[in-house]
Amino acid sequence: MATLKEELAREIEKRRTFAIISHPDAGKTTLTEKLLLYGGAIHLAGSIKSRKTQRHAVSDWMEIEKQRGISVTSSVLQFDYDGYRINILDTPGHQDFSEDTYRTLMAVDSAVMIIDAAKGVEAQTRKLFRVCRQRGIPIFTFVNKLDRFGKAPLDLMDELENVLGIRSYPMNWPIGIDGTYRGVYDREKNRIELFAEDVTHGQETRVSEVFEMDDPAWVERVGEEAAAALFDDIELLRDAGEEFDRATVDAGELTPMFFGSAMTNFGVQNFLEEYIRLAPTPAPRISSDGLIEPDDEKFSGFVFKIQANMNPAHRDRLAFIRISSGKFDRNMSVWHAPSGKLIKLAQPQQFLAQDRQIIDTAYPGDIVGLFDPGVFGIGDTLCDPSHKFKFEDFPVFPPERFARVAAKDTMKRKQFVKGIEQLTQEGAIQLFEQVGAGLDSYIVGTVGTLQFEVLEYRLKNEYNTEITMQMQPFETARWLAFPDGRTITPADLRGADRGMFVHDRSGNPVLLVSNEWALGWIRENNPDLQLGQVPFDR
Ligand code: GDP
Repeated sequence: MATLKEELAREIEKRRTFAIISHPDAGKTTLTEKLLLYGGAIHLAGSIKSRKTQRHAVSDWMEIEKQRGISVTSSVLQFDYDGYRINILDTPGHQDFSEDTYRTLMAVDSAVMIIDAAKGVEAQTRKLFRVCRQRGIPIFTFVNKLDRFGKAPLDLMDELENVLGIRSYPMNWPIGIDGTYRGVYDREKNRIELFAEDVTHGQETRVSEVFEMDDPAWVERVGEEAAAALFDDIELLRDAGEEFDRATVDAGELTPMFFGSAMTNFGVQNFLEEYIRLAPTPAPRISSDGLIEPDDEKFSGFVFKIQANMNPAHRDRLAFIRISSGKFDRNMSVWHAPSGKLIKLAQPQQFLAQDRQIIDTAYPGDIVGLFDPGVFGIGDTLCDPSHKFKFEDFPVFPPERFARVAAKDTMKRKQFVKGIEQLTQEGAIQLFEQVGAGLDSYIVGTVGTLQFEVLEYRLKNEYNTEITMQMQPFETARWLAFPDGRTITPADLRGADRGMFVHDRSGNPVLLVSNEWALGWIRENNPDLQLGQVPFDR
């Protein structure tokens, strides 16, 4: 029988956990769907026609996502391919949900960046790329929509370098003329892959024909001109391009680049196979007790997402745990760092689109969903009671939009409070109370305005409570403290009336102000006051 160490080594070697980052509409949902299709996890990808009218994809969970046609929550998808176990963490593309996205990026070992061939590097791609860079995770690039006219491959490589500051190494290269590519040249295998006519409109996996370089048959198919252009490009890449270097890829400084079309399945399988070969296995994590290696036999993991009411039929709340080390067993007991308590993990769940399955075991890199009776928070560490530690903190984002929120119907106050508390614990909103304003309303802080719509929608649908919302003219929050630690009331602060004096959930004083100028005034007039962008106890 294999020892636990051997079992862990084998399972870790098989695992790839990543997120797809892109600007909205670059093709993230389509590519995710196609990866599942190749993994055999689904059999027919949503056809383009039905997608256009009803916009419905396998990773869409909540009704709001379908209604608005954007992906609001991160979902987790798992499938097997060629003996590997793939975990894809979907990230919302909309900029207002960047916080959720950042947290998801804490739970992956690499990222796939989709670039629309016609649009190149877009705003949201830049932001998400920056987070991946900060974390130093390897980034793989998929240039999508090659079935249409787009920028020239060499220009896209320049754009990655100039706009994002990352060098690229094309793993394959399109053959043919912009807009009518016929296939790709695989640089590693030095062979040609031509795609058969797409008769299923991308619904089924596509058969390709493989040719050795010296086989005249492919030249005949693509034409002399396209073949000559390809030879020129290959030479150029060889002479003037980057060298492939694994260490530079692992450090997130060189991105392996793939060309394809998610919609027509062009280049998707090549991408998947090469990605699996090159992408890192689950990485060690920094903790209060040094690096925790995935093959450490003692279990550990952390909460990166909390979500309630995903299934309207059961009013449940799930905490999503990324396993960092050891083996996860159903019904095991773990130490929960923030509460200092031993918790029994009942009914762990794994995800494939809308089907949840109860699981018995899971390994580093996997994501499990746990029923959460209300004890878990974002970033919480769970570990073996015989080796207690805490993983490094998650980044927090200062709120930039504020609204006064109250229940329309005062009789519904209890549900209103319950819903607001829930969304706060999920990290969807930040909650403040205005000092001296009574408890009928809260001040809600968010990073983006769309979060207010989600708040309104979810309170109505999940808690049957309609709310009133008044936007407040503030854009900045600062946590306040004096060096001697004495309590601060509005009376202790000169110019408190230039903003709004509130308390956060832990009772810490916070001042909301409208701009940097107001902040400067407060700073000048309260010289020994300390102002923090996040709570001081973080
Ligand atoms: P997301 O917002 O990044 O998830 O993007 P989607 O996957 O929803 O794709 C946005 C739009 O681009 C949809 O209409 C897709 O059908 C279309 N699309 C995705 N991939 C391709 C592709 O390879 N070629 C073309 N022509 N369209 C694509």
